Amino acid sequence: MATKTTTRRKKKEAPPPVVHKTSDYTEIPKLTFEVKVLKKDKKDATNEEKLLALYQLQLIDSKIDEIKTIRGELPMEVADLEDEVAGLQTRISNHADEAKELQDEIASKKQVIKDATTAIKKYQAQQNNVKNNREFESLNKEIEYQQLEIQLSEKKIKQYISDNNQKVELIEAAQETLNERMGDLKTKKDELDSVIDETRKEEEHLVENSERAESMIEDYLLKAYKRIRDNALNGLAVVAVERDACGGCFNKIPPQRQLDIRQRKKIIVCEHCGRILVDPTIEELLK
Ligand SMILES: [Zn+2]
Repeated sequence: MATKTTTRRKKKEAPPPVVHKTSDYTEIPKLTFEVKVLKKDKKDATNEEKLLALYQLQLIDSKIDEIKTIRGELPMEVADLEDEVAGLQTRISNHADEAKELQDEIASKKQVIKDATTAIKKYQAQQNNVKNNREFESLNKEIEYQQLEIQLSEKKIKQYISDNNQKVELIEAAQETLNERMGDLKTKKDELDSVIDETRKEEEHLVENSERAESMIEDYLLKAYKRIRDNALNGLAVVAVERDACGGCFNKIPPQRQLDIRQRKKIIVCEHCGRILVDPTIEELLK
């Protein structure tokens, strides 16, 4: 247990290459009864049969919930890490594009310097053949202009080199984080795959039976069941009366209402939480 908590909480440290097994923590939830099949059309079912059908569906769905609990935060942790890895890859690729642009700029400024140097040589040669002072001065101006071009380009190149070095540093840092996260992701994925692998057979069996149990329940009731289940934190839509109280919200149930629940002549919901109420002895009908 202790290793589980440490590997899940710490992000910076590389997690040990341990793949946890479900059986390290808990037993894999299993279906412990045979699904009771309704031997008539669901529209003709008595309220007792409807309550039993809902009750057994709840038992199966709760087992499926238990399996999801075993997987715990792993699916979310894997998804988070996948997002982080994708984000880092985008960041690296953006930095690399920017670095490439800077390198192109450097090359283009180097070409400017080369061209200006050639031009200066040409003007200097022309100065040897000038006819008057004005022509000489005019060539001097051209030369000065090209010299300024060279200075400006050199300054830009310096700036671009420094920017490029910064990009390279950012890329290296992001790459390092990326490598770490990819390691984390692999560990978490292996762990999740192993849990899914171990529970797959039971889950498939449960889902199959959940579907069978659902097929025996009329649409309007099934919809109500699913709505209540979705709204309940513990996934319970059908609960037994326990110690005179609703097994879902623990509010007291008056004796007359408890009697009605025991008789199974009506489908009764908790007036506090809306869950469908059954009496605990309904379980015996599944045996
Ligand atoms: Zn309740």
